[in-house]
Amino acid sequence: AKQGGRNRFSFFTRGMQEAALHRARMLKDLRHAVSHNQFSLHYQPIVDLADGRIRKAEALLRWQRPCGDMVDPAQFVPLAEESGLIHEIGAWVFREATERLRIWRARYDHRFQVSINKSPLELLAATREGMDVVEQLALSGLAGEGVAIEITEGVLVDPASNINDTLLRLRDAGVQVAIDDFGTGYSSLAYLKRFDIDYLKIDKSFIRNLEADASDLVLAEAIIVMAHKLGFKVIAEGVESEAQRDILCQIGCDYAQGYLFSRPVPADDFDLLLQRESAL
Ligand code: C2E
Ligand code: CA
Ligand code: CA
Ligand code: CA
Repeated sequence: AKQGGRNRFSFFTRGMQEAALHRARMLKDLRHAVSHNQFSLHYQPIVDLADGRIRKAEALLRWQRPCGDMVDPAQFVPLAEESGLIHEIGAWVFREATERLRIWRARYDHRFQVSINKSPLELLAATREGMDVVEQLALSGLAGEGVAIEITEGVLVDPASNINDTLLRLRDAGVQVAIDDFGTGYSSLAYLKRFDIDYLKIDKSFIRNLEADASDLVLAEAIIVMAHKLGFKVIAEGVESEAQRDILCQIGCDYAQGYLFSRPVPADDFDLLLQRESAL
């Protein structure tokens, strides 16, 4: 019995050690990735449901290890946040995406927009330390027009976060604000009237069963009606079928994004999508 107890104990600690080791190794690799620029952005079209045309793109971060493996952001963004690397990575994402934006605006459509994900930690740091995307815009010589940032509700619901000034400065610079994953996690809607918001993105969990689940349909419809009355546009994410797209059209959704239109693709492939469309 004593023997078994010790085995259980050592098994337990070995598991913990392995998790800690794995994390430490991944963090070392992530640091290396930052200094050796192993990141790239993929872009996913955001389509106007009224005419089916691509009006915007969401920039999505990718980490390619030297061995070729792609690491999913769900795996490394949390580690980047814990370690503070998110600030450097986020600044790179912003520079890279706005550079593309400038090219695509000049080449295809001067109203084209790029949507950039911002960790709540980046907004909090910007508020605390006064360094933020407004400065990055100034440095890049770009106005904010055409840039939207995607943030989750949590940072707005938390009364201590005090990010209102940062949001106001962003909007002064022409940057738009989208609420990402809308409808997941937080029950308070009070922030919707406190902040100037441009877009609500309906989370893909509401879209997945839109054809089959009557309550998802009711919720999607209610979100759209509410958003429009408050003056926001609505983007549906995770649209994978024509049936979903048709329903979203019927209930007045403004934009849609998902595998039905395209997976997220490298910038050069996205350029081809825009090129094909501008030839129509
Ligand atoms: P998100 O902002 O909610 O991004 C949408 C995710 O849904 C993306 O996953 C996208 O590839 C995926 N997606 C798009 N269309 C469909 C569809 O039709 N069906 C399904 N099932 N999924 C679809 P991805 O690229 O793996 O990104 C995961 C998350 O990582 C993002 O969720 C975002 O929270 C975070 N992330 C990505 N890029 C950045 C970044 O530059 N900065 C920060 N802070 N976070 C990022
Ligand atoms: Ca997003
Ligand atoms: Ca989302
Ligand atoms: Ca998300």
